[in-house]
Order: sequence, then C-alpha cells, then structure tokens
Amino acid sequence: MTGGLRIGVLALQGDFARHRAALEQCGAEAIEVRRPEELADLDGLIIPGGESTTLLKLMDAWNFVPAIEKFHAAGKPIFGTCAGLILLAREVTRPSQFSLGLIDVGVERNAYGRQRESFETRGTVALAGGRREIEMVFIRAPRIRRLGPGVETLATHDGEPVLAQQGPVLVAAFHPELTEDLTVHRYFCALVRAARAGVGPVFERRLCRRNSLLGEASEGAAEAPSESSARERKP
Ligand code: GLN
Repeated sequence: MTGGLRIGVLALQGDFARHRAALEQCGAEAIEVRRPEELADLDGLIIPGGESTTLLKLMDAWNFVPAIEKFHAAGKPIFGTCAGLILLAREVTRPSQFSLGLIDVGVERNAYGRQRESFETRGTVALAGGRREIEMVFIRAPRIRRLGPGVETLATHDGEPVLAQQGPVLVAAFHPELTEDLTVHRYFCALVRAARAGVGPVFERRLCRRNSLLGEASEGAAEAPSESSARERKP
C-alpha cells in the first residue's frame, strides 16, 4: 500500500536485485537506475551494497554525482546500505575516499576485522511499533565511527549505530534486503511517501529529537514520518 511510489535502485553494481524485490514486496514500483536522467521522475533512491570503489568509478563514468546531489537537494529520500552508506557518508577512512557527504557520519570501511568479515546477527531497531530485534547480515561492512548531532540512530548492534537517518537520508551498515524481514524497507517507503506528501517539517522535528537508543530513552520508539506511513508499516 504505497500509493504509486516509484523508487529507484542504483543498478551499476552490487546487490540491487534483492532491493528491488524487497521494494516490490512493500508495494512500491521499483526501477533499476543505470543513467542519471532516470532519477528525474523517481520519489526515492536506494544505493545498494557492493564495492564502493567500483561503484564510485561507475558513478563517475556516468556522471551520477551531480544528479544524486540534485535529487537530494529536492528533498527526495535516499537509502544507502553498506557500500551505499560509504558513498553517502561525510568522511570515509581506511582508506579515505571521495563520498557524497549527504549524511553527517564518519565511516571506517571493512571495519569488523578478518574473523568477522561477514556474519549474521541480531540487532535492535526502534521504529514505529516499538523496539524489537531483527536479523542483520553484515558483509565486509563499514562501521559508523562518528555521528553528527543531526543524525538519529534507528538501530544498534552491540551498542553501535548500524541504521541511522538525517532528514531524508537513511543508511544501514547491514543488508536488510538479504533477510525476509521488510521492516527497514517499509520504513524507507514510509519516508518516501512522507517526503512526496511534503511532510518536510516532520524531518526537522526528528532531527531535534535524538533517538532513545543512544539517548536517555525518554521517548521509546522513533516516530513515524507521518500518520499514513505509520499505518502502512503495519504488517
Ligand atoms: N567493503 C565494501 C566497500 O568498502 C562494502 C561491502 C558491502 O557493500 N557489502 O565498499
């Protein structure tokens, strides 16, 4: 029940097909994006996991950077998972590399160490409907080492942020598209719907309210971006 949402998945490299399937299961129209001009009539965009250096080269070759910046400037939501998080972060270390800087976080690449390069675990999300555990798959994942003051943590693993949001930009260190659980994709669809409906001030309010996972736990779960999206998120 996403009311004709058109959400793109950057399909240059990496795990775009699973994101597409997850979006379709949420009822959105999912479009594989291979050219910057294809962003024009989309309501939201997912930048998938893969290899961020390869993605950067391909984005550069097709001149995607200005198109994504314009998309973001229009207030349209972007969700980056794993390599997508690396591309959206403000700083990237080990090694440092260019990034779009659309969310005020610092990430360290491949930061879980050799023994735990890829692993499945459980972590806590706090979205509408309360706090609960979900399965999380990490594949040579980045770690969020710094969170800017305007960034809200929506999920943690071992006490560290692994799902975070700043306004219309959502990032995950794990791969929600690799599990059957649609919680995170439903949340992103709700964000896209709220942005399309012009519920901008909701984003601003969210920024002022630090998430209870890291803070004083005063408010319980993070709020839905809008009432209609809260309904949508129910299974
Ligand atoms: N290690 C990859 C990188 O640095 C990210 C891995 C992933 O997206 N699963 O780009």
